[in-house]
Amino acid sequence: MKQYFKVDEWKIIEEGFDPHYNKVAESVFSLGNGRMGQRANFEEAYSGETLQGNYVAGVYYPDKTRVGWWKNGYPEYFAKVLNAANWIGIDVWIGDEQLDLAKCEVLSFRRELNMQEGYLKRNFTAKTASGKEVKVESFRFCSMVDDECGAIKYTLIPLNFEGEITLTPFIDGDIVNKDSNYDEKFWDEVNKAIDTDKGYVQLRTKKTGFEVATAMKFSIEQDGKPVSVQSNPIQKEKYIAAEVKLQAKQGQCITLTKYAANLSSQNHPAAELASLSADVLTVIASKGFDTLLAEQAAAWAEKWKHNDIIIEGDAAAQQGIRFNIFQLNQTYTGEDDRLNIGPKGFTGEKYGGSTYWDTEAYCVPFYLATADQKVARNLLLYRYKQLSKAIDNAKLLGFKDGAALYPMVTMDGTECHNEWEITFEEIHRNGAIAFAIFNYVRYTGDETYLTDYGLEVLIAISRFWAQRITWSAERQQYVMLGVTGPNEYENNVNNNWYTSTIAVWCLKYTIEAIGKVKQANQTKYNDLVNKISFREEQECEKFADIIGKMYFAHDDKLGIFLQQDGYLDKEQILVKDLPATERPLVQKWSWDRILRSVFIKQADVLQGLYFFEDNYDIDTIRRNYDFYEPRTVHESSLSPCVHAILAAKLGDVERAYQFYLRTSRLDIDDYNNDTDDGCHITSMAGTWMAVVESFGGMRVKDGVLSFNPLLPAEWRALSFQIGFRGTLLNIRINKEGVTIKNLSDTEITIKIYGTDTLIKSNSEKLMPVQASTLG
Ligand code: BGC
Repeated sequence: MKQYFKVDEWKIIEEGFDPHYNKVAESVFSLGNGRMGQRANFEEAYSGETLQGNYVAGVYYPDKTRVGWWKNGYPEYFAKVLNAANWIGIDVWIGDEQLDLAKCEVLSFRRELNMQEGYLKRNFTAKTASGKEVKVESFRFCSMVDDECGAIKYTLIPLNFEGEITLTPFIDGDIVNKDSNYDEKFWDEVNKAIDTDKGYVQLRTKKTGFEVATAMKFSIEQDGKPVSVQSNPIQKEKYIAAEVKLQAKQGQCITLTKYAANLSSQNHPAAELASLSADVLTVIASKGFDTLLAEQAAAWAEKWKHNDIIIEGDAAAQQGIRFNIFQLNQTYTGEDDRLNIGPKGFTGEKYGGSTYWDTEAYCVPFYLATADQKVARNLLLYRYKQLSKAIDNAKLLGFKDGAALYPMVTMDGTECHNEWEITFEEIHRNGAIAFAIFNYVRYTGDETYLTDYGLEVLIAISRFWAQRITWSAERQQYVMLGVTGPNEYENNVNNNWYTSTIAVWCLKYTIEAIGKVKQANQTKYNDLVNKISFREEQECEKFADIIGKMYFAHDDKLGIFLQQDGYLDKEQILVKDLPATERPLVQKWSWDRILRSVFIKQADVLQGLYFFEDNYDIDTIRRNYDFYEPRTVHESSLSPCVHAILAAKLGDVERAYQFYLRTSRLDIDDYNNDTDDGCHITSMAGTWMAVVESFGGMRVKDGVLSFNPLLPAEWRALSFQIGFRGTLLNIRINKEGVTIKNLSDTEITIKIYGTDTLIKSNSEKLMPVQASTLG
């Protein structure tokens, strides 16, 4: 863990430039608006270590799979959200020296991400090899209002010289993906143009044929006065630029304002992209940078009004949660059901920008409580629309009769993961997709979703379980063989408790949902039965048989569920006995050694106890937590949040607080030594759960919202807002008690510390702190 960035409640601040930390900083300072995003690369040239990244949501490339030894059933390709045209570039020459911080002496440097208003600012002074000093300030943002646009204000002052400065704003589409499997370039040029102060490059992705026009328009001022731009146009393959030479006096301010737009053929006719992007730029340039920035601040203020979590008395914890909420809002806005949330969002290439079970297991709760109901519904619909591909995917692996296996990694419903132990075995993802349907209905009460979409998905997933689970004549029980649980540090295990548990839960929930849908709308149910040839009696009988006769690995002596058969045969060493120099294991140990060890990458049994806590008594949860937590290395970012919630449930608020810090500051402090690849966006939703469910003790059960707050000693107060079934509540917890403010015109009855409490519309209620800690 590093404490590199300054602690500030609303900002992330880097003081001084450490080139070795630049890739981490580029990730942390990333910008996005749900439609596009980018790493915090420099506008001017930089020949030091950097990962260049600009991304356009939904635009991907199917990179041919690369594996050592091909196995039947492998996906043909790994989808990748592409590194798209660089629109921030401004090449700067001071006389005949290029401004490049890797080649200059950096006299001062400060980077600041303003999360309250949604912009990135960078200030530095640098000395060139010949001793010329310049002072630079750059401001930029991806507009939340005009979400196909971004803007940059780049100001340069010669400090100790006068002479020629050349500024060359450019669009460069001749870029590569670092993770390209065969070192291919993924874009072809369609057309381009460059004029005095504007230009564009239109590119088409190979194979997928997405087209994106990236356009720019710029203006220049000297000492605040507009300069009539005389430029020298430059064109290269997939590249346009306008070179502007200026005579600058010492101390004079030169400002280049660059507006950019990214328009994609997903949203507009390909033939019109160039002209439409020019129109968009005319509109945003006429608003001007300051107006755009003010609009940006207002849009973020609106987001924060509903999303903010305020932690009083602990600036590091406050910064952590705001950073997480900020990044989530930059990644996904929920307006487009073709889009989803890649584990790295727009902050890096890792995980290909594709959809994982992370969305259903971690992100859905955040959007349920903080955004309009349609946002979580769109996330569910994304999977509904991919159901036929999930059925094809299951068919490819030998399943039949409408069984669906959703992919572990996908862009359009097709499986993209190419490691057999994950592609074929990490089938618990199907369970999370079913669980998200349950979670959505539990939270919103919207049972029409089951009738219209949910039940069809549930039946298809249950059909998969019914075939994947097999009968053991030896045990006279059903078993599930050859799986990988959430803990990817074990492969091909038998009877992974988590997977078996979520599968059986899914069968039960499907039967329950059938009953509900039949009652709500028999006609629609009959239509569904016909559509999917569902043999209700026979298939439900099979589901019920499995439910009644499933084997679950457990150890009676210890009173715990076993992560899988044989887990106790492993040498039982604890994480506390591992030397710090050997961690993270994934970077220090051979894969073979990891697989044979007792160490757990992320919550596995505990993930199941978290999802299904109501089915287990508190002693069972405690025994399992006490056993598994000391063996967990948390090398997946998704792990600490689940542990935080369970620790709080068990009353260990100090541990919960430690886990909370770890999850919320995972990227800011680079806990897992991997933030250079990008930020862990999906686990940020887990951080939100860790606050609201651990310290707020929030749950929803039988249609009732409840809170069992528990404040860490380090915090004076915690407050957050929750939208629940049309009511907006503000919850504020301090040492004395919890105050719930109903900000809506409808009254609501909720449980506080187990007591039903009516909160009238537009009024508030204070409940004194109680000792109850059991969620
Ligand atoms: C985790 C998976 C997760 C993936 C993407 C992996 O390291 O083990 O559970 O889905 O990252 O976040």
